[in-house]
Amino acid sequence: MNIRSTAASLTELPAYLYDLAALRAHVRRVRAALPERVELYYAAKANPDGPLLTALHGLVDGYEVSSGGELAHVHAVVPDAPLAFGGPGKSAEEIAAALRLPAVRRWHVESERELHALAAAADRPVDVLLRVNLPVGDGALDGVALAMGGRPTPFGLDPERVERCLALLASPGFGHLRLRGIHAHLASGLAAAEQLRLAARIVDWSAELAARHGLAFDEVNVGGGMAVDYADPEARFDWPAFGRGLAELLDRRPGLTIRLEPGRALTAYCGWYATEVLDVKHSHGEDFAVVRGGTHHLRTPATRGHTQPFTVLPVPHWPHPWPRPAVTAAPVTVCGQLCTPKDVLASGVVVPELRAGDRLLFAMAGAYAWNISHHEFLMHPRPAFHYLYHLDGTAS
Ligand SMILES: *Cc1c(COP(=O)(O)O)cnc(C)c1O
Repeated sequence: MNIRSTAASLTELPAYLYDLAALRAHVRRVRAALPERVELYYAAKANPDGPLLTALHGLVDGYEVSSGGELAHVHAVVPDAPLAFGGPGKSAEEIAAALRLPAVRRWHVESERELHALAAAADRPVDVLLRVNLPVGDGALDGVALAMGGRPTPFGLDPERVERCLALLASPGFGHLRLRGIHAHLASGLAAAEQLRLAARIVDWSAELAARHGLAFDEVNVGGGMAVDYADPEARFDWPAFGRGLAELLDRRPGLTIRLEPGRALTAYCGWYATEVLDVKHSHGEDFAVVRGGTHHLRTPATRGHTQPFTVLPVPHWPHPWPRPAVTAAPVTVCGQLCTPKDVLASGVVVPELRAGDRLLFAMAGAYAWNISHHEFLMHPRPAFHYLYHLDGTAS
């Protein structure tokens, strides 16, 4: 059964469908495009769903977690997987919990306060990357939807703060902390060429810093943020071009390991949200379809302000004696059941025909979808979750 026929046959809607075989095939292609000395971690915050984490196991080198909750959850699902622990505002409890887990291989330290707290709590060697908020003066991040760096943000350390951390790390009391290199996650939504320019900038900056201080860094984590184009569901980040560029970068830096930690670009494509049209209405010259569920299940289009791509699965049978509301060959806005005008999944999409009772299958719902949604708002039931293992059957 494929996604479409599964969505058509479900008795309970809405439902999330995850194609784990497709996920594995996609991540295998990503991996194959990357040179040796590039480690691929998965940023769990994009979607920490257990079966997805399990499906990724063995294909990614590890998982990036950004909270004590993610740490405990990911470690429980994939106990032998290496973890990198990031996130601003790590609490004393989170630091203590992470120190108890040998699976935590890297710490992404975000502030001097955190460095002090970690040094004070550490009773064994801990491998650290300093997360830097690099100024990106050449306009490289202009127009990028989500910039975490290159401007004032709560994320990471300004370059002069990195210098102060280096001084701290050389001082008494910091002996357990081993500085392995630099981490930078500066933006989300970058195409391969931009992403590559940014990676080169981070690697060069890191090498310069190390040279200036007589240090040897053996790794740089250049973050995630590889673009996902919701307007073009078939498009993919150009992993082969990115991989070739990284190979050139690494040729100039013998002994360096580059780590990536994408989230969205790995899992966005394997998730689908299936639902049914409850009503079709004409209002002041525009057509609206109201579906079961909404942005409390799939918040992605509301947070990003985009139209979530969907296909119509026509349902010929209409069981009721009253007229079937429909719209034909016109732009329709697809809304959910919430009592707010923000509950919009798709805006002004021209459909040949859409009727109450038809099903909609929303694509690209595998990342920042269910797990970022405000599930409790209006107290509608939760969706069902289904996992497909077809194609290579190796997802379990
Ligand atoms: C969110 C995040 C990622 C993943 O970003 P994507 O845009 O999903 O690839 C990676 N690293 C850090 C530090 C993050 O906060």
